[in-house]
This record gives sequence, structure tokens and C-alpha cells, in this order.
Amino acid sequence: MPECAHCGSVWEYLEAVKHSFRTKMVCPSCGADNYHTISGCKKAAIFPVFMIPFSYFIYMNIDVSLPKVMVSTAGIGAACLFLLPFTVELSKEKSHLW
Ligand SMILES: [Zn+2]
Repeated sequence: MPECAHCGSVWEYLEAVKHSFRTKMVCPSCGADNYHTISGCKKAAIFPVFMIPFSYFIYMNIDVSLPKVMVSTAGIGAACLFLLPFTVELSKEKSHLW
């Protein structure tokens, strides 16, 4: 779980989910602004990159019906969203990817 860069409090899962898609995240304990780190963004980017070849592998199997493909793809997407808060790392300053 993410840990506040200012006060060190560990955020709860739902709090991390709520803030995962924002660039500026306000700590619920101290109210300070936190930002994503580059390494945390890279970890979060692994999930969609992993999802594409796995979905392609499922599509290539001829015996699989379309509803099964849709359900498995949705399951992978849900798993990615479930795991996303575990990749959030916080810093005091906003960092740029480029
Ligand atoms: Zn804090």
C-alpha cells in the first residue's frame, strides 16, 4: 500500500484505489500533497502491457468462444485494477516521465 511521503502513514486499500488515477493525491492523515513516482508509474504500466499478449494468446485459441474470451479479458482487466493500488509509490514532488 502507498505510504505518505510527508507523514509516513500507510493508506488503506480503498483510499489508494480512489487516488490511483490522479496525479496529485492528498494524504487523508496530514492533508499534504503527494505525487506518483516514476518507478511506481512503470510498475503500473506493466499490467496493461501484460494484458495485451495474454488476450492475444486467448484469441489465438480457436476452440474458445467469444463470450469466454470476453469474460477472461474482463477478468484480467479486473485483476489489473485490483492490483493497481499495490504499485502506487508516493513522493513529495511531482516528477516527469520525460
Ligand atoms: Zn500524510
